Amino acid sequence: MHAMLYFSSLGDSKIDTSKSHLRKALSFIISPILAMWKFFLLLLTNLFAKTTLAYKTGPFFPNTLFDSSYCLSWRVAVETNNAGPWGTVPMECVLYVGRYMLGGQYNRDLKTVMEMIRTYLDGMEASDDGMDAWVLDVDDTCLSNLLYYQEKQFGGMPFDPAAFKSWAGKGMCSAILPVLDLFNKLIDRGNKVFLLTGRDDLTFRDITTANLQNQGYLGYERLIMRTADYKGKGAKFFKSAMRKQLMDEGYRLRGNVGDQWSDLQGDYLADRNFKIPNPMYYVP
Ligand SMILES: [Mg+2]
Repeated sequence: MHAMLYFSSLGDSKIDTSKSHLRKALSFIISPILAMWKFFLLLLTNLFAKTTLAYKTGPFFPNTLFDSSYCLSWRVAVETNNAGPWGTVPMECVLYVGRYMLGGQYNRDLKTVMEMIRTYLDGMEASDDGMDAWVLDVDDTCLSNLLYYQEKQFGGMPFDPAAFKSWAGKGMCSAILPVLDLFNKLIDRGNKVFLLTGRDDLTFRDITTANLQNQGYLGYERLIMRTADYKGKGAKFFKSAMRKQLMDEGYRLRGNVGDQWSDLQGDYLADRNFKIPNPMYYVP
């Protein structure tokens, strides 16, 4: 009996020893995995904190938060219209676009477009008959909606017509200053300036007129807005029809400036078309 107990206890001891080895082995494997997992969680928390910080601090968007190489290619595709119609800014490029718009590169690109327009202007002289004309778009050409789009993830969120209507209805868009300078220069040089916008005439005429005035856009020839006849029609169609009317009135369209390809394509085009950068949205 004792012998049986002895051997039995020997057996238990062997089992205990092998359990202990198993625990040690598991611990040896699991510990590094746990440590790595904790480190990963830390990285994740840090990344989230940086992202939140980036949104709060505006111009500061660390490059490490997005694939700037891909997003730059995407932006070039959008600006050259190689992308064609597109919906929203890809989520992985929201921070990139925010950084582009607020961090200085947008202003630099805008300035370059203005310099090119000035070079073109310097090589020509407006005729004395007062029929040389320029067409300027309004939203994100003359007036900036950047404050609104900042709240919409710089175009990462789908277009919200009601929210935009409410924003535009406040008449608080600020002038895009390099475009305001161009506007004044065009008028000084004897050109007629027509402001052409897809904004609804009935809803937005008064507030848009007031907004343009309070931002310094004075002395333009006409603010052309979308009337009921063109409701539901694409911007390209509507703006082509408006340019035709101007040409029918005898105006020579020397230049056209807009942030959308639909401002610059279609029929009855101006002699030169200039694209203002805008990677936040696409208007067909
Ligand atoms: Mg526009």
